[in-house]
Amino acid sequence: MLSYVNNKFCSLHNAKISVNDRGYQFGDSVYEVIFYKDGKFLDLEGHLKRLRKSMSRIDFELNFSDSAIITIMRRLIIENNIKHGSIYIQVSRGEYSRDHSYFNMPLKPILVILPKKIKEDFKIVIPGIKVYTTFDTRWNNPDIKTTQLLPNVLAKTKAIKNGFGEALFLDKKSYVTEGSSSNFWILNENNILITRSLDGKILAGITRDSILNCAKNKNIVVKEKKISLDDIKDCKEAFITSASSFVTPVIQVDKMIINDGKVGKFSNLLRKTYLEMND
Ligand code: PMP
Repeated sequence: MLSYVNNKFCSLHNAKISVNDRGYQFGDSVYEVIFYKDGKFLDLEGHLKRLRKSMSRIDFELNFSDSAIITIMRRLIIENNIKHGSIYIQVSRGEYSRDHSYFNMPLKPILVILPKKIKEDFKIVIPGIKVYTTFDTRWNNPDIKTTQLLPNVLAKTKAIKNGFGEALFLDKKSYVTEGSSSNFWILNENNILITRSLDGKILAGITRDSILNCAKNKNIVVKEKKISLDDIKDCKEAFITSASSFVTPVIQVDKMIINDGKVGKFSNLLRKTYLEMND
């Protein structure tokens, strides 16, 4: 795979990053994952905007315009002959002799862009997943998309190891914050679509935003508020959203079976609408 690593196009095999890169040593870097579907980057503008926002929240800027980044992304898609896939963008604060404080360090942010190919077509109808809940042990700013992902990595690994598709984080009062790599939604017994508000305890998902718009266009009543385990027990449907999973139905949360363990019509419809919107 041809990649773009620190100002150079090179094969993944030859890509090199310094061991003094602050992303490597401190998780001092931010990232985005953008899906590519048959000629189109999904929610491109939103992802690039959030990348800038993440950098600004942790106090650095990248000296590449959005159009320069898009030009690199397009070249990687073309040269790697990708029909469906994704682009991973990571920007670290830069490299320098290791020290916690970056004050007065002569740093230049390092941009890495890695493409990935997906073999199969995007399926509209998919099986639902089971998820388990676990306490949210992340730092207090999960709304910044940094590469400090250890709690997410551990929670997701435990999920997969135990036959679940995702781990849902719970705040101190046992309300769901979000998934380890997704936002969480329910359709309640009154057909109101609910997802947590952007209260600083979740990432402002770009797919979340698209689905909110999609639901509003379809005149679905949406509320952005906290979801309790009791809300889940009583809900009609549940699903997660992310750039890499789009809308994925959830049929079980811990021991609670949702919609008799079947994928709900509503989740299916939203997944279909989201994918068709991006045709
Ligand atoms: N929350 C977390 C913790 C995530 O890692 C992700 C995926 N990056 C999301 C939510 C969903 O965000 P998006 O829709 O922008 O992929």
